[in-house]
This record gives sequence, C-alpha cells and structure tokens, in this order.
Amino acid sequence: MGKAMHLTGSFHPSQRVLLGPGPSDVPARVLNAMAAPTLGHLDPEYLALMDDTRRQLQTIFRTANELTLAISGTGSAGMEAVVVNLIEPGDEAIVCVNGVFGTRMKDVMERAGATVHAIEVPWGETIPPERVADALRAFPRARVFGIVHAETSTGAHQPLEEISKLVHASGALFLVDAVTSLGGLPLEVDAWGIDACYSGTQKCLSCPPGLAPVTFSPRALARMDARRSKVQSWYLDMTMIRNYWSADRAYHHTAPINMTYALREACAIILEEGLDTRIARHSLNHRALRAGLESIGLHYIPSQSLTTLNAIHAPDGFDEALIRRRLLTEFGIEIGAGLGPFKGRALRIGLMGSSSTRRNVQLVLAALEIILSRSGATSAAASIYAS
Ligand SMILES: *Cc1c(COP(=O)(O)O)cnc(C)c1O
Repeated sequence: MGKAMHLTGSFHPSQRVLLGPGPSDVPARVLNAMAAPTLGHLDPEYLALMDDTRRQLQTIFRTANELTLAISGTGSAGMEAVVVNLIEPGDEAIVCVNGVFGTRMKDVMERAGATVHAIEVPWGETIPPERVADALRAFPRARVFGIVHAETSTGAHQPLEEISKLVHASGALFLVDAVTSLGGLPLEVDAWGIDACYSGTQKCLSCPPGLAPVTFSPRALARMDARRSKVQSWYLDMTMIRNYWSADRAYHHTAPINMTYALREACAIILEEGLDTRIARHSLNHRALRAGLESIGLHYIPSQSLTTLNAIHAPDGFDEALIRRRLLTEFGIEIGAGLGPFKGRALRIGLMGSSSTRRNVQLVLAALEIILSRSGATSAAASIYAS
C-alpha cells in the first residue's frame, strides 16, 4: 500500500475518496488556486486578498465580528489561539468533555494556566443544559466556558443556543469549537451569542489542512484588551496578529500565502453554492447514508448525530481495521477508526464539504455491502434520494 522511498523526482499520491474525519476531498479549483504565483506577504494584492478572505469568513461564520481571520496552523492552532488569548493564568474555566476534542480543550486551558472544571458526560452523549446551569452555579467565578459543537470523535451534535444563554447570564465568555461544523452544519456566531469560535480548513470547508479560521466578539475583544499579563504564546498573540490583519499591516510572522489562496477559493465555492443549500446537502446525504447503514444492521453511536460525521458501532464478527484496510486498498475510500473508548469498536464515516455527495454515499455503501456480505444498503439510500 505504501510507496517506496525516493529522494529525488516528484511525489505522486493516489487519488482517494476521503470519507474520514478530515481531511475531506479538495476540489481541483482549490488545488489549482494554491499553484498560483507566490506573492510577498505585504504585497498590496495579497493584502486585498486577506480582506476578501475576512469578509468571506464573516459570511460563513454568520458574524459581523471585525476580528475574524485565519490563524496559521490547523484547527488545534485555532483552539490554542482562542484559549491563550482569553485565559490568563489563575483564571477559572468550565469546559464540556464528551470526547477527544473537549478533552483537548481542557488540556489546552490547563496549560494556559487556568483552573478548569469539567462537565463530563459519557462519550457519544451531548451536554444537557441542566448540567451547565449546575456548573455555572457551582463555579460562579468561571471567566470562560468552552464547548465542542461537533464532536468528531463520537459524531455527537451539541445544541448550543440554550447553553449560550445560560453562559451569558453568568458573565462568562462562550467559546465554541466549530472545526467539524463550519460550512456543513447550521452555525450562527452572532445569533447564538458565541464569543470566540475556531475551525479548520480541512473538514467542511474542503481545503487542505493548514489554516484555522477564528472569530472573536466585541466582548471577547474587551476581555483581551483588559489583560493584565501578556498572552502566553508569542506566535498566537492576537494583539500582534490583529495588527497585521488590520490597516497597520505590521509584520508579525510570514503568512502562509498560497494556503490563503486556497482558503479564498474554498470560501468562494461555498458562497457560490450558498450556505443554506450546502447545509441542506449535508443533511440529505447524511440521511441517505444513515438509511443505508441501518438497513444492513449498523447502529449509530450518538443519539444526536452530526450530518458531517457518522460514527457507528463496528459490526460484530468483523475486524474493523480490516474493513478500513479493504475500503482503502480495494475501493480507494478512506474512513476513520474509533478513538478513546471506541478504539477498535467504531467506524467513522465523514461526509464533509465536497466529500458529501450522493455518489460517495452510494460508493461507500456498495463497498460495505461487498465487504460485509450484506445487501440492501444502496437501495435504502436510493429511496431517500427519490423521496
Ligand atoms: C479535527 C478537529 C480538531 C483539530 O483540528 P486539527 O486540524 O487536526 O488540528 C479540533 N476539534 C475538532 C472538533 C476536530 O474535529
């Protein structure tokens, strides 16, 4: 399966169908955009492109936040940027933990010097608002509250609006991980009162990994401006990054120029499709996949599933690693394995961005019919498309 090692000549990766937890398939338009000539990071043409990218991201995040930009780095850099800029050592924080990414947010907050109180529920479940109300009552000094909208490790879709109201009533800032929701699920930064939100390019935006869109509300900005201590990370300090993305254009670090071309193109594709149409497409393909999977006896892990990621229990009597290996080698399809308590016991099928198509749904179902020696999945999916 792997390629032999060569130290000269070009690399020619295989064309895969990316149905894992990210990266998703990248449209040719986006890849071609990356191949355009590299500009200098202070070239007026590049600065104009940054302004366009900010406006695109504001539309996709559904926010008027002035401080909306792409952090250099993957989704985790977005997480870290939000956390280190809004937490000062000694602050109290509350974080919701129901999978890998809530666990990671807690770790990042602790490394930033916060005392973190976790609201934990079993993996695969969502956080009930009553638990949030209890935690806010128990820890009234919490200055930030973090939660994952789309928990990619379990496929759980976390409702946010009611929780946002509780958090705001307490005076804490509302931080949201939207890595697997931005561009695929309904997400309303302003209408839902989200104070800081981060995402990544390689999930529902269908761009290669490498940038992390972030947005900060005026409340979050005021919190940053009132800091008593310097931001713990030099590289991710928004006070300096802001100056580069603002009229000052003060050099901080060299922007990933060609990655920004890619993000601009990926955002253009999203806005051409229309955000609502795109969200509806994710929903339709998820319903078709789900009908197919359930028709051959496969069961979803979360009760509230994402449309962008489908986490199912591995079928009894099969080696899940072998299923994934056969999908890759025989069909060129990548899907994801289980993590944490689901390691070796789950399969995760992503339908993100450009990967969320009727063709891919039918392809992965047909492949699973063959591998599992079952039938009916593709016709169950077809009936959803026909209805
Ligand atoms: C993928 C993911 C991340 C981390 O993003 P990277 O790009 O891998 O750094 C964070 N949160 C969620 C919910 C994710 O799915």
